[in-house]
Amino acid sequence: MIPSAFDYARATSVEDAVAKLAEAGGAAKLLAGGHSLVPMMKLRLNEPSTLIDIARIPGLSGIRADGDAIEVGAATVHHEVATSDLLAEQCPALAETAAAIGDPQVRNRGTLGGSLAHADPAADYPAVLLALDASVQLQGANGTRSVNASNFFQGLFTVDLGADEIITGIRFAPAKVAAYAKLYQRASRFAIVGVAAALEVTDGKISSARLGLTGASTHATRMSASEAALVGTDATAEATAEALGDPGAGIEDVNDDLHASEGYRRAMVSVFTRRAVAAALARA
Ligand SMILES: Cc1cc2nc3c(=O)[nH]c(=O)nc-3n(C[C@H](O)[C@H](O)[C@H](O)COP(=O)(O)OP(=O)(O)OC[C@H]3O[C@@H](n4cnc5c(N)ncnc54)[C@H](O)[C@@H]3O)c2cc1C
Repeated sequence: MIPSAFDYARATSVEDAVAKLAEAGGAAKLLAGGHSLVPMMKLRLNEPSTLIDIARIPGLSGIRADGDAIEVGAATVHHEVATSDLLAEQCPALAETAAAIGDPQVRNRGTLGGSLAHADPAADYPAVLLALDASVQLQGANGTRSVNASNFFQGLFTVDLGADEIITGIRFAPAKVAAYAKLYQRASRFAIVGVAAALEVTDGKISSARLGLTGASTHATRMSASEAALVGTDATAEATAEALGDPGAGIEDVNDDLHASEGYRRAMVSVFTRRAVAAALARA
């Protein structure tokens, strides 16, 4: 359980991190909280030549309002997301998601950007980013770009992120009628199934619905059929449960592993979709 030898460098700015990534020619790795990367290195599943420490780059962490949007810096630790007054007011679903990650040690070291880049199929944030229709901000040698969450999560541990790029943060519109509900693995708290719902209610009916699902398949996805089923429905837990039917039955490529069988996961997708929608409606 000893990683291969590596060099260590601390980046002083995002530009410095990007320059160091380019210098290493794809053989370096960014180090944020180290909670996912270091275990991978110990197992020698990852053997970077250099670790580029980005945890203390000024301005890379923090939560702020920018015009009509909210921005969260990539190096923001889960604890800060969980306890943000701005998020409690403007987007409680994101704060409650962070509060349900792992344990206090993980929440105090692990970062938003690290979680998004690692893209564990059982990670919590991806479901909420999808429901919020958030964009992921990236910076690389060729400049900056913004990727919608629906395009960012592409497969098992695979996201739209170049080897020379760093995630600088996320951006989304405030969403008060939103919630996250998960069935979690008791030791790690990773999601066996996690569903985030962001709704708009007009005159007592659901006028818009976005649902993000994590834990069920190789990567987080939107639940388009369930979103369509919700629009036009009375904004009550009973009516939405009826409209949703059995959403777990329609999900493709459901995981079957030591934590849950495919059949159990499908059943839990249905249960936790109903719960997330009901919890979001309780905030309407
Ligand atoms: C015991 C335990 C329990 C956990 N429970 C949960 C849970 O319940 N739910 C959950 O969602 N997660 C859970 N996690 C994972 C946790 O959230 C990690 O913090 C997260 O996966 C990785 O964040 P990090 O900052 O530690 O990243 P690191 O380990 O430092 O990096 C992970 C990967 O991301 C890359 N990276 C880091 N930052 C950036 C960036 N800004 N731009 C580009 N690439 C970057 C690194 O190069 C590396 O490839 C758990 C972890 C542990 C150890």
